[in-house]
Amino acid sequence: MKTLSGIIKAPTPHWVGNGFPVRSLFSYHDQAARMSPFLLLDHAGPMRFPADGMKRGVGEHPHRGFETVTIVYQGEVEHRDSTGQGGVIGPGDVQWMTAGAGILHEEFHSSAFSRSGGDLQMVQLWVNLPRQDKMTRPGYQAITSADIPEVVLDNNAGTLRPIAGSFDGQPGPANTFSPMQIWDLKLNAGGQARFDLPEGWTTAVVILEGEVSVNGSDPVGDGNMALLSRRDTGVRLQAAQNSLVLLLSGEPINEPVVGHGPFVMNTRQEILQAFEDLQRGTFGSL
Ligand code: MN
Repeated sequence: MKTLSGIIKAPTPHWVGNGFPVRSLFSYHDQAARMSPFLLLDHAGPMRFPADGMKRGVGEHPHRGFETVTIVYQGEVEHRDSTGQGGVIGPGDVQWMTAGAGILHEEFHSSAFSRSGGDLQMVQLWVNLPRQDKMTRPGYQAITSADIPEVVLDNNAGTLRPIAGSFDGQPGPANTFSPMQIWDLKLNAGGQARFDLPEGWTTAVVILEGEVSVNGSDPVGDGNMALLSRRDTGVRLQAAQNSLVLLLSGEPINEPVVGHGPFVMNTRQEILQAFEDLQRGTFGSL
């Protein structure tokens, strides 16, 4: 059984643009080595937005050197980027964007959602790229809810959707540059489940809704994250209420992390180069 190495408590929310009220569960600013290959996780909402047609979100901005994974639980997000791609991500959908050598994009509530109003809840996870792939060609994987298998857990414990990696012989649809498991779990009140995750990998259990005991801990509430040891393999979840959980597990990338805002590279020189390239227009345009 893995041991619990800490509970990361939900910090005060802040706004990303005018569309995403987020709590940052962790960030590469202070947790790069501990959370590798994951760089950052923002949990947005749940929050109810009015039916006023107002455009809410984040306008054009760049990224380089990593991937952004947007998982929508409620509401709808619309995206457009400098590779010419775009689309709407709705409940159950995932957008896996590889910024690689450089991308410009914008992220807004969809216009249909702005008109209808309603609840918005989503996660944006940043996943690091190994040094050899940081300057890979930008692109994205549009993963719809129907692309993700849903496995029913034993004893009516709930359901598990492997977004990346696999579960119970069912592969998740995302292609990744380094080995990882990203599981979207819905646990029923009283549900218990036990998993084995690779020894040596970073493993974290993010509680988005509800209350879950992790490897015998006191119940961990919504907006908090349980971080487990890299040693051993077992993870046991016990839901005190109906709960929404994101399980992250990945092989650490043991390389230096130097980040500045939207760029995450290996050296300070590469960050300066990113700013220079952005100014020279090599990121393209929207
Ligand atoms: Mn972005």
